[in-house]
Amino acid sequence: MSAATPEQRRPAVLSGVAVPALDAEALFDVTVEDGVFTRIEPSGTRRGDEPELWPGYTETHAHIALPANFDDTAEDPRIIALQYLYHGVTHVVDMFGYPMVADAWEAGRAASDLPYPELVHCGYAVTAMTNAAGLSGHGVEFPTPVYMLAVEADLDQALRNNAERGATFLKVMFTDGTEQPGSKVRFSRLSERVLRFTARIAAERGITAVIDCNTLEETRWAYDCGFRLFAHTVRDRTLGDAEWKDLAGARFVSTLSGLRPMVMTADDFLAAYGREGFAETQDVRNLDAVRGLEQPYGITYGLQETRTGALGDMRRNALAALREGNLLVGTDSGNTGAYHGYSLLGELDLLRGDDPSLADALRHQATVGGRRYFDELRGESGAAHPISVGAPATYNLHAPGRPLSALPTATVVRGTPIDRQAVARAIAGLRAAAAAGTTTHDTKEGAAL
Ligand SMILES: [Zn+2]
Repeated sequence: MSAATPEQRRPAVLSGVAVPALDAEALFDVTVEDGVFTRIEPSGTRRGDEPELWPGYTETHAHIALPANFDDTAEDPRIIALQYLYHGVTHVVDMFGYPMVADAWEAGRAASDLPYPELVHCGYAVTAMTNAAGLSGHGVEFPTPVYMLAVEADLDQALRNNAERGATFLKVMFTDGTEQPGSKVRFSRLSERVLRFTARIAAERGITAVIDCNTLEETRWAYDCGFRLFAHTVRDRTLGDAEWKDLAGARFVSTLSGLRPMVMTADDFLAAYGREGFAETQDVRNLDAVRGLEQPYGITYGLQETRTGALGDMRRNALAALREGNLLVGTDSGNTGAYHGYSLLGELDLLRGDDPSLADALRHQATVGGRRYFDELRGESGAAHPISVGAPATYNLHAPGRPLSALPTATVVRGTPIDRQAVARAIAGLRAAAAAGTTTHDTKEGAAL
């Protein structure tokens, strides 16, 4: 952002706003000066219809370098940054692949008048070697590099290389790709020995490790080897009390948005993409792609039933984790149909379902919980509450009673209000420039394709 104007340096006062993350019953007067909160004081009792101030959202499971569009194209990272900003997502955790776009992201940020979301990343993921049956570790199938671990020394190399690229945590791929016990094994898996070693070395070096598992068996195995952070919830069954007891202290990221497009019909898609903000931020050619869909991809690929079942289990397990304060709200954005920014707000609706009593807890986890996680991944576990005196004034205002997926009524980043229409215009400008570039490219080289 360019230097603050005198107007922005003048104290801004929000009188009588609700800050449910601090006190559900009270109203507050909040003062912002020079981009930070300088006063947060109770000023009365809440009636219910006052605007709510929450920290900016944190997307806790994103892949900026993966193609979210149905034609398998990845968005320009400069557009992705603004897609997040538009939806009030001010912090993003990239769960592998970011180094591929790091230069473009940084150059875009340096040239942008609008603030980019803060981002933390793990570099490239680690996974298993190709095994005797010819199966590779999960992650090899994505258009980003991964490190394949066979022996302990491979981990050291991966950690060094990722650190050099600015990574601050470790992403371990572990699932063999089965969604139900007995379904087809798609990937090789790390041995127990390497898994145990990986958890131990990460802990010794103070690096937070997040692991990717599908089934309860995989999750238990990883837990027993020392992992406590899971990139998805368990998808092959709804866990009971005894099973939760065995996973005490484990935290899970919800990723319904990234898994759901596989089972959606054309009507499901059009409803999901019919919320405010889609046309302003996303490539609208995706609407044509889903409009013409004759049947869900799950039927085409023969996994409609297992995936539908998996989504139900994942949601129920996510809500159980929510009750214990162990849910992180994420989407696996960058997977087909899981759009940056837009899908995080949709994820909240998917988690809430028809139970309005979940709304505040979900928003709390998507804001305060997400930010705490973000700070932990960047190595600042003891960071102050995001709504406290001295903290950056990065927040959203929400109208009470609206759906969780509704756009914030205001987004403020380090004290600067974001003009949402200006963000939409900047996205449109980048798309127009890219389209003009494509035309030239087609004219020159189209004949060769
Ligand atoms: Zn992912």
